Amino acid sequence: MKTALTIAGSDSSGGAGIQADLKSFAANGVFGMSVINSVTSQNTTGVFGVYDIPCDVVASQIDAVFKDIFPDAVKIGMVSSAEIISTIADRLKYYNTKNIVLDTVMVSTSGCKLLRDDAIDALTSVLFPIADIITPNLHEAQILCGFDIRSESDMVRAADVIYNKYNVTVLLKGGHLANTSNDLLYDGNETWFEAVRIDNPNTHGTGCTLSSAIAANLAKGMDIKTAVKSAKDYITGALSDMLDLGKGSGPLNHMY
Ligand code: PLP
Repeated sequence: MKTALTIAGSDSSGGAGIQADLKSFAANGVFGMSVINSVTSQNTTGVFGVYDIPCDVVASQIDAVFKDIFPDAVKIGMVSSAEIISTIADRLKYYNTKNIVLDTVMVSTSGCKLLRDDAIDALTSVLFPIADIITPNLHEAQILCGFDIRSESDMVRAADVIYNKYNVTVLLKGGHLANTSNDLLYDGNETWFEAVRIDNPNTHGTGCTLSSAIAANLAKGMDIKTAVKSAKDYITGALSDMLDLGKGSGPLNHMY
């Protein structure tokens, strides 16, 4: 069986973070493993606490996994500090890790900062160079490219700026644009993934779930385009199931 590792934050409500990643790995047919960087207290209404795990504990979790069951792909999610970012990059380089999907998690939909402002430089300078693909949403892409994104042509300009500035393949998720939900994969060439907008207010953890599905697909040997297409189809199914849990923006049905 192929294996995938998530290095991310824990979401106590199970809709996002490590918990979503492991469910997405299982639903996409790979054996999932996890390294926890941060523990968050949260539910569908918000994030109430963030507690970072010490760097030496993050490093020893990574070492324990890699020395035994070497993952076929790695997804990196919430990493809140520059110190943890450096620790992860150091260990992943040491193991010459392949198939790295980096979800550029910055702020939760509920408005909680999951990446400190002073860690954005570390993310771009230390983790971008080892990633095979990054998966920013429009808000994160705006921070990375420095201008507002209001249309699909802005998305192309933004992806081009990010690709050329950081030399990394970008999946720019258009889900927050007014009329469409199309995503753009950009590696110097444009590939659009068109999606019908699903009118579901329960979207908590969508980004986590998508990026781990991409990692699972890379672990299974798919190329990036096929991995993204298949992951998008999976997310569409998980959203269309219209699960409705909790008092706020609830989770998708990862195992639909
Ligand atoms: N909590 C954790 C631990 C996450 O990693 C993320 C996103 O990556 C979120 C919360 C935010 O999820 P959402 O913005 O989909 O509610």
